[in-house]
Amino acid sequence: MFNSLSEKLESAFKNLKGEARINDLNIANTVKDIRRALVDADVNFKIAKEFTDKVKEKATGEKVINAISPGQLMVKIVQDELTELVGGKEADFNITGNPAVILIAGLQGSGKTTFTGKLATYLKTKKGKSPLVVAADIYRPAAIDQLTVLAEQIGVDIYAERENKDAVSIAQNAIKHAKANNKNVVIIDTAGRLAVDEVMMTEVANIKAAVNPTEILFVVDAMTGQDAVNTAKTFNERLDFSGVVLTKLDGDTRGGAALSIKYTVNKPIKFMSSGEKMDTLDIFYPERMAQRILGMGDITSLVEKAQEQYNEEQAKRLEKKIRKNQFDFQDFLDQLQQIKKMGNLKDLMGMIPGVGKAIKDVEVNDDSFKGIEAIIFSMTPEERSNPDLIDAKRKARIAKGSGKDLNEVNAFMKQFEQMKKMMTMMNKMPMGGRLPGIGG
Ligand code: GDP
Repeated sequence: MFNSLSEKLESAFKNLKGEARINDLNIANTVKDIRRALVDADVNFKIAKEFTDKVKEKATGEKVINAISPGQLMVKIVQDELTELVGGKEADFNITGNPAVILIAGLQGSGKTTFTGKLATYLKTKKGKSPLVVAADIYRPAAIDQLTVLAEQIGVDIYAERENKDAVSIAQNAIKHAKANNKNVVIIDTAGRLAVDEVMMTEVANIKAAVNPTEILFVVDAMTGQDAVNTAKTFNERLDFSGVVLTKLDGDTRGGAALSIKYTVNKPIKFMSSGEKMDTLDIFYPERMAQRILGMGDITSLVEKAQEQYNEEQAKRLEKKIRKNQFDFQDFLDQLQQIKKMGNLKDLMGMIPGVGKAIKDVEVNDDSFKGIEAIIFSMTPEERSNPDLIDAKRKARIAKGSGKDLNEVNAFMKQFEQMKKMMTMMNKMPMGGRLPGIGG
């Protein structure tokens, strides 16, 4: 996420490397580079200028205290300003009311339907709610199909009326349906167009007037940069929405949308979404976003994600097995599945300080696990729980079954043995050699 911006900012700070103190000249050079980095990331020039003016003003007034170098001081100032720019404090998300009504608006293809599914999953699994998703797109039957498939996949109810050509009455009927069926959150997925269009705007505005939503979320594809910001402006003028959802942050996004939207519409970014898996919805935390942009990683989010998957009992069982040197292929496979559940692999790695930059050109995706999984899947349950059983004959069978060659199977088994040894060793160290909170 925002790799190029992070790199350019880092290089801007290099102006101050080796400088004993902050002065007008080195501030001016740094600030100029920061401004260029922002503009290159598709941040509107006016916003970039105002941003760097503030940074300059703060830096000029600062005394460099002994313990902090001018470079560190500048990073801190920029971090604070970036946090402010993307929203300051995290925003509330209101789901009071019975039912709470959440209206989803945005252009076609921005990720509304995908987000609707993710939000329903989040509300169901994290907030203990009973959501109803509503397909209010009266133009594209395929949109209803898409939401139907998603709803089934995540196990939530859907409301749709295929014959009804009035989106307002569909929304109203959906709320009645929710009340009658004990659904406490209604998420209305509205129709989008490829570009802003009067009919669509009027329709969404009419739905808003009819159902009085608790939240109106504007969904926007972060990859579209300044266009995203302009679209947000138009939607906000008509709908006065309550929050923004940034999608497709897993792609090669430059950052312009994320950095300019709050400033432009003065509405908070509430969620960000990266990936098509239903559990990759994240609450937007301005401070963490600023840290990630500055290449400081986001350990807090990483630990939280790990904690979500953390199962005390399972962890204890696993620890015992590791201590006894009994960690087996099934355990390994289970761990892989858990990591995959945490989200996009490259994104996760990017949350580790310093790693994002190191892996920016490396192809890392969930497919990286596929070869290993194929090998383990080709083992029988006995083989998985007792790696010593696997003799040459069995290896040949596993290689054939997994479509790998024998060398690959051998290499993996060797790596596994080494890893096992290391884990047993680490487990004997104080604290088990693990980070607190990251279990498994
Ligand atoms: P809608 O027309 O606004 O309802 O958009 P969809 O939810 O149908 O999404 C449009 C396309 O973008 C689909 O192919 C989705 O799978 C994809 N998509 C949605 N959200 C994300 C995301 O966060 N990351 C990525 N990579 N793709 C996404």
